Amino acid sequence: MGFKNRNSTIMEEKKNIEEAVEPKKLNFLEEIIEADLSSGKYESILTRFPPEPNGYLHLGHAKSLCINFGLAQKYGGKTNLRYDDTNPTKEDTEYVDAIKEDIKWLGFQWEKECYASDYFDQLYEWAEQMILKGQAYVDDQTQEEMRANRGTVETPGTDSPYRNRTPEENLKLFREMRDGKYADGEKVLRAKIDMAHPNMMFRDPILYRIKHAHHHRTGDKWCIYPMYDYTHGQCDSIENITHSICTLEFDVHRPLYDWFIETLGIYPSHQYEFARLNLTYTLMSKRKLLELVQKGLVAGWDDPRMPTLCGVRRRGYTPEALKMFCDKIGVSKRDQLIDIQLLEWCVRQDLNARANRYMVVSDDPIKLTITNWEDGKVEWFDCPLNPAEPDGATRKVPFTGEILIDRADFMEDAPKKYFRLKPDGEVRLKYTYIIKCNEVVKDENGKVIELKCSYDPSTRPGAGEWRSVKGTIHWVSAAYAKEVELRLYDLLFTLADMSQVPEDKDYKDFLNPASLVVSKGYAEPALLEDNSGIAVQFERIGYFFKDSDSTPDCPVFNKTTALKDSFKIS
Ligand code: ATP
Ligand code: MG
Repeated sequence: MGFKNRNSTIMEEKKNIEEAVEPKKLNFLEEIIEADLSSGKYESILTRFPPEPNGYLHLGHAKSLCINFGLAQKYGGKTNLRYDDTNPTKEDTEYVDAIKEDIKWLGFQWEKECYASDYFDQLYEWAEQMILKGQAYVDDQTQEEMRANRGTVETPGTDSPYRNRTPEENLKLFREMRDGKYADGEKVLRAKIDMAHPNMMFRDPILYRIKHAHHHRTGDKWCIYPMYDYTHGQCDSIENITHSICTLEFDVHRPLYDWFIETLGIYPSHQYEFARLNLTYTLMSKRKLLELVQKGLVAGWDDPRMPTLCGVRRRGYTPEALKMFCDKIGVSKRDQLIDIQLLEWCVRQDLNARANRYMVVSDDPIKLTITNWEDGKVEWFDCPLNPAEPDGATRKVPFTGEILIDRADFMEDAPKKYFRLKPDGEVRLKYTYIIKCNEVVKDENGKVIELKCSYDPSTRPGAGEWRSVKGTIHWVSAAYAKEVELRLYDLLFTLADMSQVPEDKDYKDFLNPASLVVSKGYAEPALLEDNSGIAVQFERIGYFFKDSDSTPDCPVFNKTTALKDSFKIS
């Protein structure tokens, strides 16, 4: 373990102790909830997670999930899963199913599975009610006219010429809209509030638009669909959501959220906003992620380079690591760009404690011939699966007369302080003997192809007095080595802050051409029998997770993350 990592572990421990003595400060949502519970405003809380089923969940959603489910868990409340499915053309049951799978994978269980479309009848009824009270009207203006008449922040808007239709006329037209009499865009239903309102959101917002489209749940029952603002608060209210938590960009919508609830006189849910998660070198807009998938720039939503939950799962990230990460970034009211290394640090923390260890030699290895090894002899070593538990489970590793090592672990003209293998030098082959390099064999191009070595039988661990050498390297027996495919991943983008793509460029211009390098490795046989279900550590190389593309003949391993880097947690 490097010095920096040890340092950060000590800091971690110190922090944990401090937190145990003095509990972590509450975040602003916890403060609100504790006040609401202690004042008796609510007996228990009910939150919801409201994805639109138009794509796969990503790391940003993980933050929202941890907040919504985490708060409910902490305060003995519950969380509904509510699909915000009011955009039939972009939504699909493929996404509905994938979202559920991802939430379960994170370890959260929702109370009720709901859909905005469950409430279409109720929303429609409320719209008629608003029409009859003179609070809504059917507008025939085109989109351009409506935009032009909306005014600006400085100037008031202009009333629509259709604004003073009678409730009876509006009701008739609205029913005709519902019955399919008009084409898309021909008419809309708007709330009648105030075209001069200082908050632009209140300038007669649209409640319904016509869309002759098949809906993944309601089929062809509807050809009018409610807008987000007219839907979200009412859905919260129908479900008696106490704390409706969303991202900051919705704060300008909050007054309208409250207005609909007040105007309809329904259960008063409340909306609270937190800062969305932004990560360095990462894009989290579903629209752009979909484009990457559709253009074949990645192998699919679950490409291990994608920031989607199915992508990072395939990469080998664990739910525990993601939760640790969400806990560390906390909940704030200010937009933040989080260093992706913090996420990797969490993955490493979790895997370091739990991952089984195996030895794998990288492609283009060097063969060692142990010249004093008895011909055909195989010696099996019991090696710990996790060195943190020396008395824990072990795997059996075969040692034979021909050994493969990483080319990077040998240097012919080595400097004095080089402690791996060099001519006439000694190293320990991890878990086994100390060997000495006696002769270097090269091909006609001068490339090293074989090292003739001798082993010292007295250095077998446990055999007698422990003799130490400065270097220990990993290895595999050539006779038992299993070839595996390695998929080495790097950042998908080269720009740290992907919100700063210059205007004359496209985000796709920043795709990292080296984000995937396919290579080979030679593994000790026990690796292929691992059934831990989580990523494993290839000793001295990194963490790897077996990919679903694996076949018995060609096991494939995705690089989850390196063993360490210089990142320090503060
Ligand atoms: P995108 O912009 O990626 O399409 P979205 O906000 O449209 O995301 P939804 O499916 O509507 O995606 O989001 C479901 C919930 O997750 C919402 O409450 C939303 O605020 C939250 N959420 C989405 N992205 C993030 C993020 N980057 N950080 C935190 N929460 C997020
Ligand atoms: Mg959305």
